[in-house]
Parts: sequence; structure tokens; C-alpha cells
Amino acid sequence: MKQKPQKTEFAEIINVAPDVDQVVCDGGGGPLGHPQVWYNFDGRDHASCHYCGRKFVKNKAE
Ligand SMILES: [Zn+2]
Repeated sequence: MKQKPQKTEFAEIINVAPDVDQVVCDGGGGPLGHPQVWYNFDGRDHASCHYCGRKFVKNKAE
């Protein structure tokens, strides 16, 4: 049996600047879009969107 390709969640990783405390995600618009949501990093170096699974990762300051 053939398996249809599935859209993988958490596939998309967005890099953000290390001094960013909040990110906004709307799923990129279109059929995958969702209401605009802000996410706080809350001291962590990553945050995931609960709607579309995008992962926001801070670039390490080196
Ligand atoms: Zn999203």
C-alpha cells in the first residue's frame, strides 16, 4: 500500500534574532493561515506555534 505524503508538523523552523522576546505567527496566510497569535519566549530560546506547528528558534549570539 502506498502512503500519501503527509504534511509534517513542526517542520518549519523560523530563526529570530536573539534579542527578540515575542514573535507573531499567522500561519503564513492562505489555507494554512490562522488568527494572528503572539508568543512569548519567556526566557527560553524557542517557542512553538500551537496552530501551525512552526517553531521559532533564537539565533545564538556568539
Ligand atoms: Zn502559526
